[in-house]
Amino acid sequence: ISVTDLVNESYTRINAVEDKVKAFITLDEENARAKAKELDELLGTDEAKGLLFGMPIGVKDNIVTKGLRTTAASKILENFDPIYDATVVRKLEEAGSITIGKLNMDEFAMGSSTENSAYNKTRNPWNLDAVPGGSSGGSAAAVAAGEVPFSLGSDTGGSIRQPASFCGVVGLKPTYGRVSRYGLIAFASSLDQIGPITRSVEDNAYLLQAIAGHDPQDMTSYPAEVPNYTEALTGDIKGLRIAVPKEYLGEGVQEEVRQSVLDALKVLEGLGATWEEVSLPHSKYGVATYYLLSSSEASANLARFDGVRYGYRSPNAENLLEIYKKTRAEGFGDEVKRRIMLGTFALSSGFYDAYYRKAQQARTLIKKDFEDVFEKYDVIVGPTTPTPAFNVGEKISDPLTMYANDILTIPVNLAGVPGISVPCGFSNGLPLGLQIIGRHFDEATLYKVAHAYE
Ligand code: GLN
Repeated sequence: ISVTDLVNESYTRINAVEDKVKAFITLDEENARAKAKELDELLGTDEAKGLLFGMPIGVKDNIVTKGLRTTAASKILENFDPIYDATVVRKLEEAGSITIGKLNMDEFAMGSSTENSAYNKTRNPWNLDAVPGGSSGGSAAAVAAGEVPFSLGSDTGGSIRQPASFCGVVGLKPTYGRVSRYGLIAFASSLDQIGPITRSVEDNAYLLQAIAGHDPQDMTSYPAEVPNYTEALTGDIKGLRIAVPKEYLGEGVQEEVRQSVLDALKVLEGLGATWEEVSLPHSKYGVATYYLLSSSEASANLARFDGVRYGYRSPNAENLLEIYKKTRAEGFGDEVKRRIMLGTFALSSGFYDAYYRKAQQARTLIKKDFEDVFEKYDVIVGPTTPTPAFNVGEKISDPLTMYANDILTIPVNLAGVPGISVPCGFSNGLPLGLQIIGRHFDEATLYKVAHAYE
């Protein structure tokens, strides 16, 4: 099999299903085919190396790609061609993979259904009436539909794990600092992480291996060696101690979802693990804390989109102030505006102590809940989401119901620990995800458990 064959297969599948799934914003077919030819020349020589040699990959459209349009699914970046590659994109290139195109998402990664894209609405390949989840809905749907075997997403409050769960694929949010954020269009810088979405746990480990590691261009990246993740895939989880937070199986969690987690725990017990119920008492403050902090950070990060530096500029402006105002009024969608307003309010001097500072304090308590549990247990297990995928249109007009969908993924970002979602059954024909959460920088144990289970 040649690299050209792999790339052909990807575009053939895209041509067959993309008008229904709509996972991509931009395809890069000409370049991908040219690159495949180049790599084929190397086949059979010593140059044919790299962890992902010849592998087609899709990249979420908030990760910058040199010369390849990058929109973050916003009108404000509709004509933005970055002048450099994100570190993860450079690393993929070094690993020999081929970028097939840029994947749809909620605008600036704000959302849980990919309905907030300024371009199109991605559908769930398992049921086209259902959402794929979000914000990395394109990344999860493209893998689930077989358009690409690998994709990158980003996760600020669940945006890799929730769509992976809704689409029946494997998605990992690495520890904060494990993967460079250089070239990721910032939403909430203290929470954002790039991570891999794949069909199997093994593929996921390969992709993390390729992108992980210290980067001098991201001062929050972690300066230590990256372990060999595939060595963790032993299948041996004898003696593993699992904690199951009672908050993760309680009120608001659908019965089928609860049952699927209990069934998964039986499988893990059968493999020699033990589990006990624990409590993460502050997780009930997770959603409120997250929306205050992430919106505050977003309001600062999105100040750079002013009609001068990048992308769209309103044609209706007559002076500088009007350029700012009209560009932003016309360029940002409703959800993004809502968050900028909330964040600006929470950071304003009269309200800072009541909201932003309080939220920071709550974050510390949430983080401490996890630290306490990890003193006695190796991993935390629960559902990724309280329900399977909902229908397109069902929640879009009610932001608070939409936000509540992230209740089980958000605390993980606030604590900075890693989490993975692996498929664990179905409810009503739609996939469910098992979430496994680990200690800081212990992705290897997550892969070990997920692989033993899958
Ligand atoms: N759904 C959450 C939000 O809307 C999480 C998004 C994310 O992880 N990027 O903010």
